[in-house]
Amino acid sequence: MKITNKHNVPETLVALANKQYYSKGKADFSVTEIISPPQVQRLRRRHHEEIEQDVADMLWQLLGSALHVVAERGEADGHTTEERIFAEIDGVTLSGAIDLQHETDDGVVITDYKFTSAWALRKDKFEWEAQQNIYAWLVSTVNKKKVSAVRICALIRDWSRREASVKPDYPQAPIQVIELRLWPLEKTEAYIRERIELHRNAKVADDWGDALPECTEDERWIRNTMYAVKKEGRKTAIRVVEDEQEAKALAEEKGGYVEERKGEPVRCTGNFCGVAQWCQQYQKTLGEVNE
Ligand code: SF4
Repeated sequence: MKITNKHNVPETLVALANKQYYSKGKADFSVTEIISPPQVQRLRRRHHEEIEQDVADMLWQLLGSALHVVAERGEADGHTTEERIFAEIDGVTLSGAIDLQHETDDGVVITDYKFTSAWALRKDKFEWEAQQNIYAWLVSTVNKKKVSAVRICALIRDWSRREASVKPDYPQAPIQVIELRLWPLEKTEAYIRERIELHRNAKVADDWGDALPECTEDERWIRNTMYAVKKEGRKTAIRVVEDEQEAKALAEEKGGYVEERKGEPVRCTGNFCGVAQWCQQYQKTLGEVNE
């Protein structure tokens, strides 16, 4: 991957961006790799040399790395930071680096730090849950310790004090600890095997020049089409709803009108996967929209 510096930021930040903070060591797969879409992983490998990213667009990645370094320094009794665990499964080596483990009387509590947006926090994050449960499986099967809870410590990068004061369902502080569901170990193990198989098959397809497995709707972070009920002379919408009929009825009642806010696959349109320009699935979607 080429790191560019279009905004002339200090070279020290460019050097930081070029550093590899995470290495999966001798593992075939990291936990983050197996939970991510096989198509994204294959396209990233295929176009590694061509992928360009500007250092200015890597702010949150850099701060994420900085947070891990800082978090390692925050020593507290019974807490282990940044432990990397390796496991052999289905003929491959899997590795995961766990941000924080806290030993309690009930078992180990696993926590991962995530920079996120307030919008993303309100969505169900299956990937977070899967990642933390694989860490729980590693701690249980390799370190032979019981895990009692899995959590995310979310740092909300666009948190607004004003929004928090007017919306009760908005995060009430810029740091939120979110409890995730702890899966039975058998379920997690079946999930790990299934993901390894998907990635293996994608590699075979790639090697043979066959079509790559498409990303699912969840993996593309589909944002549904919404309908805003608006009124002349008022800047903000009266309400924004998913159901068009409900929006039309409300608009009639309030003497307003309905504005459609088209849904989109956010991961593709924002190129959060980094490979949208080489992705046939996304290019096909764009073609359908243009038609
Ligand atoms: S552009 Fe969308 S569909 Fe294509 S690899 Fe990225 S996330 Fe998947």
